Amino acid sequence: MRLEGKVAFISGGARGIGATTAHLFAEHGARVAFGDVLQEEGKQVEAEIQKTGAEALFIPLDVTSEEAWRRAIAATAERFGELHILVNNAGIPGLEGIEDTTAETWDTIMAVNSKGVFLGTKVAIPEIRKAGGGSIINISSQMGIVGSATSSPAYQASKGAVRTFTKSAAIRHADEGIRVNSVHPGPIFTPMTQERIAIGTAARESYISRVPLGRIGTAEEVAYGVLYLASDESSFVTGSELVIDGGWTAQ
Ligand code: NAD
Repeated sequence: MRLEGKVAFISGGARGIGATTAHLFAEHGARVAFGDVLQEEGKQVEAEIQKTGAEALFIPLDVTSEEAWRRAIAATAERFGELHILVNNAGIPGLEGIEDTTAETWDTIMAVNSKGVFLGTKVAIPEIRKAGGGSIINISSQMGIVGSATSSPAYQASKGAVRTFTKSAAIRHADEGIRVNSVHPGPIFTPMTQERIAIGTAARESYISRVPLGRIGTAEEVAYGVLYLASDESSFVTGSELVIDGGWTAQ
């Protein structure tokens, strides 16, 4: 029970890495609230966690809206009384190269992947402060650290922003006992990537050729890293970047 007594909020918790993290947090004793634009899937994850006897709460959330974040964090505090952990996980991919990316696409990717992290952090900090401190984990990507000719430049920029925003927030709030760290997954099999990296596709082989461990990762392998950063086991860790990429960025 690595999160006994903790209350967590996870954005983008209706599927993929977010839903897996919600399940793992609940298994480790946390009371878990999570938000997403996918309401049906979100309610389903809520029911699955509740079936295990743990406490879970799904709240509709579009991370690009400050108002929606305020409602979500207030509903979490109302239901569970406090908040110790925020996981800014919601994200969307990009496809096009620089010349094919419209200004609208750029703004949309930035709004979800970067502004969403800023807004979540902004709104959750007062609640985490009230609890006497806690942990914020921002899901970036290996694409937030290194360039790639086959990744979307807008996606890369949005994830790079998450990386340095995390360090800024960590320094600003360290004296309040609020730790802020980023996680950088490599290629992970989730609903976001399942078509692109389906078995037998050229894209899958190309991804695997860049992973020294020679395979695609799982959502559980990311969630365990998030669990470490959420728990008091990482009490001396802030402003750091936890790379979970099979060695992609080591070469
Ligand atoms: P996913 O698509 O399976 O899950 C993302 C979730 O975010 C979905 O439930 C989606 O509905 C939600 N979401 C999207 N826009 C939202 C919005 N505006 N408001 C609220 N929720 C919203 O993808 P995933 O692979 O689980 O990705 C989770 C995070 O991990 C993302 O930030 C992604 O960029 C990052 N990541 C994923 C990979 C990978 O290979 N899968 C690699 C590196 C980083």
